[in-house]
Amino acid sequence: MACGACCAAFRVSFYWREASDATPGGVPVELAEDFNQRLRVMKGTCQNPVRCAALQGEIGVAVQCAIYDKRPSVCREFSMAWDDRGANPLCDTARAMHGLPAMSPDMPKINSDDHGRPNPLCPAA
Ligand code: SF4
Repeated sequence: MACGACCAAFRVSFYWREASDATPGGVPVELAEDFNQRLRVMKGTCQNPVRCAALQGEIGVAVQCAIYDKRPSVCREFSMAWDDRGANPLCDTARAMHGLPAMSPDMPKINSDDHGRPNPLCPAA
């Protein structure tokens, strides 16, 4: 896909048991780190600048998720703005952070997924 902005904009946190040490075939634990007693985060998303360790490629040009089939639930639930779930202000925010225009209902569809919360919520940030 061509965007990837949301993979480099927000903290990507998920219930710790989604990781592969608790769920075989889950999120590779080596790409996650503890956030608190209940949550883990994708490495690279609780720091500035934000960039998920699983994101490959150049944002806005060509990117892919290296663990697409094993990505956290929060990534699966995040919708690209104006896909079949309608507007998503977090998508607009992520794209703006990378100098990309907000998606619109008229733009060609690209595949969608992703996540998040703004990184300033990280206690260590
Ligand atoms: S979709 Fe993949 S690259 Fe993007 S934040 Fe989730 S795990 Fe990282």
